[in-house]
Amino acid sequence: MIDLRSDTVTMPCDAMRRAMAAAEVGDDVYDEDPTVKRLERRLAEMAGHDAALFFPSGTQSNLAALLSHCQRGDEYIAAQHAHTYRFEGGGAAALGGIQPQPLEAEPDGGVALDKVAAAVKADDFHFAKTRLLALENTTDGKVLTLDYMRRARELADQHRLGLHLDGARAFNAAVALGVELAEVTARFDSVSICLSKGLGAPVGSLLCANAAIIDRARRWRKMTGGGMRQCGVLAAAGLVALDNNIARLADDHARAQRLAEGLLRLDGVTVIDGGARTNMVFITLPGRPPAALDALRRHAKTHDLLLGPRAGAATIRLVTHLHINDQDIDQAIEIIGAFVREN
Ligand SMILES: *Cc1c(COP(=O)(O)O)cnc(C)c1O
Repeated sequence: MIDLRSDTVTMPCDAMRRAMAAAEVGDDVYDEDPTVKRLERRLAEMAGHDAALFFPSGTQSNLAALLSHCQRGDEYIAAQHAHTYRFEGGGAAALGGIQPQPLEAEPDGGVALDKVAAAVKADDFHFAKTRLLALENTTDGKVLTLDYMRRARELADQHRLGLHLDGARAFNAAVALGVELAEVTARFDSVSICLSKGLGAPVGSLLCANAAIIDRARRWRKMTGGGMRQCGVLAAAGLVALDNNIARLADDHARAQRLAEGLLRLDGVTVIDGGARTNMVFITLPGRPPAALDALRRHAKTHDLLLGPRAGAATIRLVTHLHINDQDIDQAIEIIGAFVREN
């Protein structure tokens, strides 16, 4: 199988499995797991934050962050397509009484900051209290620029908003920008980072922030069932991921670009943005009905090629990761090419 649905599909490598088997562990709810502590300290330092907290998923890490910034009746601003708003079950609203204010993003993936400023509500009892701006980087594979993030920080300071980053793929952004992780993450008040995407660990995300936010997040993590016991076995895989799998994200980006270039040469396929966005390529089939996308997904599957993100989606997403090599890319282009020629 060539699985291009997502970078979440990777299997832990032998080094990870060995590290997991050998991990020194303790009860992490008692704050006694040395491997978890090591992972938390290491990523906090890399991200330029005081502290970090290990979560089973990015969804829970983002949720704990939103709950730690906002109270019931508060509001956070996010992009219409943001994972926190759109793909996390409405958890902040359902569990925290936090109202989202979604805004349409610009083509570059960022929400225009003048629109954010205009959406901040006045201090008036008619309105929810706007407390937080939540950004995402990368977002659908797009990288927010350092300048944009600087200006977002200024805006947050002007309006006394907290600033959260859903940095599920913050390492992809750092590698694409050619900077250290902290350049991407340090100016935010909180950052959620996934180990289970391009970094290739089986499980886990970390929330990085100052000690006060992490204390609140620890309470929310417990309340939402994320307090894990001897989870150093999971953290051990995360440490191997940080040791081995950061710089190589550039290979995923290069392979995504190779894939985009191959698909651009096919008649009947449109590559959105005309190229790859970090480790992702998005395509449509111009002049065909929407059902053709699912027909292509089914055709690909019969040729052992899996395309994302899910049946019924309006575009096809192809994501490169640890298990995809150059030959897989060429084969994927071949399989998609055959479909558009024959249909
Ligand atoms: C994957 C992802 C998350 C977290 O997802 P989990 O599956 O809960 O770990 C958050 N934000 C973005 C942008 C993501 O891609």
